[in-house]
Amino acid sequence: MENGKLLKSGEFLVTETEPKDIFIPEEFNEEQRMIAQTCHDFLEAEVYPKMADLEKGDRELMKGILKKAGELGLMGVSVPEEFGGFGQSFVTQMLVAETTGAGYSFSVAYMAHCGIGTLPILYYGNKDQRQRYVTKLATGELLGAYCLTEPGAGSDANSGKTNAKLSEDGKHYILNGQKMWITNAGFADTQVVFAKIDNDRVLSAFIVERTMSGVVIGPDEHKMGIKGSSTAQIYYNDVKVPVENLLGKRGEGFRVALSILHMGRLKLGANVLGAAKKAITDSVKYANERKQFGVLISTFGAIKHKLAGQVIRLFASESAVYRVSRDIDSMMEKLKVDCGDTGRASIEAISHYAVEAAILKVFGSEMLDFVSDEAVQIHGGMGYSAEMDVERGYRDSRINRIFEGTNEINRLLVVDTAMKRAMKGEFELFGKAETLYNDLNKITSGVVAGEDYFSEKTRYIINFKKAILICIHGAVKHFEKNLINEQEVLNNIADMMMETYVSESLLLRVKKLETLKGNIAVYKDILDVNIYDTAEVIRKSGCDAVNSFASQDDAPAITGAIENLSKVQGLNVKEARRRIAGKLIEDNCYKY
Ligand SMILES: Cc1cc2nc3c(=O)[nH]c(=O)nc-3n(C[C@H](O)[C@H](O)[C@H](O)COP(=O)(O)OP(=O)(O)OC[C@H]3O[C@@H](n4cnc5c(N)ncnc54)[C@H](O)[C@@H]3O)c2cc1C
Repeated sequence: MENGKLLKSGEFLVTETEPKDIFIPEEFNEEQRMIAQTCHDFLEAEVYPKMADLEKGDRELMKGILKKAGELGLMGVSVPEEFGGFGQSFVTQMLVAETTGAGYSFSVAYMAHCGIGTLPILYYGNKDQRQRYVTKLATGELLGAYCLTEPGAGSDANSGKTNAKLSEDGKHYILNGQKMWITNAGFADTQVVFAKIDNDRVLSAFIVERTMSGVVIGPDEHKMGIKGSSTAQIYYNDVKVPVENLLGKRGEGFRVALSILHMGRLKLGANVLGAAKKAITDSVKYANERKQFGVLISTFGAIKHKLAGQVIRLFASESAVYRVSRDIDSMMEKLKVDCGDTGRASIEAISHYAVEAAILKVFGSEMLDFVSDEAVQIHGGMGYSAEMDVERGYRDSRINRIFEGTNEINRLLVVDTAMKRAMKGEFELFGKAETLYNDLNKITSGVVAGEDYFSEKTRYIINFKKAILICIHGAVKHFEKNLINEQEVLNNIADMMMETYVSESLLLRVKKLETLKGNIAVYKDILDVNIYDTAEVIRKSGCDAVNSFASQDDAPAITGAIENLSKVQGLNVKEARRRIAGKLIEDNCYKY
């Protein structure tokens, strides 16, 4: 495997990365920490005290809080200065997404506005559209929404029926149709609406104002969670949208929609970190107060196991989030030189990292579901009480696996996109996979005598990648073009890819931390348990995949190779988890 600095999307499967080439959260500078503190203070002052009222569905209250966030400058983080924002780096944008992620349904409303509601116009709008809309969205003077989903078009987003026809005088598009599940629908001033012009096969995008005649907003949906966020249907009845409000070119809408989804997935990956940190802090505070059998419940091994499990998955997820964020910043810099337009360079760079965006979305949303579920369990009966934040966190977490493309769709994308990029020649995958597959009997776990700590962990990651390549080659060889219909096998491979990418990011972070911090013992514990668990996913998912395509004669050699490649040293996971939980219990909050 070669060394490389800025990897292409999916290239991590065949190329090693050095710790110096990744960004880790411990490297945030003073300004970034201040921005995060401002977001945190905002939640404390403006959001948490009003949470109960927000949950009653008070649209005006949510609107007011969003406006205040705008006044404080929190809405212009992703917008360049020339359009009224602060033009922060992608790493900083992700830090803001993370910090505000602790804001329950406020966070959903805020992210929908700043992300999918604003950025399509910044990225694809012309100068006039950016001037008319983005400058006001960046300050909160206008609030935005994004309208793609329809009753009959969810995951299959391009199948929407909303239609646009050019008026006879050529001045307007006449829009008719219906959108559903639209976040911020209740108060958004602008809507990015996707519709097909005439009988086009693909979508176009339009900027629609709520005050345009014929725009009808339905009542808010009654939802399981994020109850403070307005989600409603929007109907378009002969709405006259000026031709100047066509966003991008005719037929470019599906591309706009997909690119914005990549961005949304990345930001969701950051968002869930903030929510998880809050849930972990709530968990440990409760465990350090609640006594049963005469002692604090935080002294019980079963509770320490849960606390450590929360920390491990969060810390690993966070390592991957900031690794990707820096890659995107570097890619943006490169593309800005080529195309000269910051907005376009941003979305090109974001779209480039489609594989990693899907990984962050799936891994992060499932991490948060796990963390939130354990938070409720640690609270026992109190966790089931609507008075507790962990109860709200549990309900609010669930949506993350559904929007920004369901996790089923995103799992398919992880493998499909990586393979397509490799086929296009962006990196060499299939040749390497075939070489490994042709020599299955020679594959061992590769133990080296006297191997040091990090060399051993690096070898494990390299082995996991080899196991993935073997599964890819076997599946392609067996199913050929039909592989796309073998979703179970693709899911197995996606799980292997996701866990490996996250474990590698964690390894690189801990290696880098060794040079930044003195004592990294607890981080090594986190890494040890994580890799131990990942090895099990590689073994199980790898063997499941192989047994789904290999004949009885072929299967033993292939699964034998997977078993060898997923072998890791035995570990006293009980003690490692106790030490990880020990730090959390001592700090009485998430502080890693
Ligand atoms: C609270 C909330 C807020 C939302 N906000 C917005 C918003 O602001 N703007 C917007 O445009 N949309 C929004 N959405 C819509 C959201 O993006 C969709 O709900 C989501 O894309 C899934 O579409 P669907 O609900 O039609 O489910 P479906 O597509 O019908 O999926 C149903 C199930 O089938 C699975 N499935 C579907 N296709 C496949 C396939 N090819 N292979 C395997 N499995 C498949 C799915 O994974 C899922 O498990 C929101 C939704 C909710 C609930």
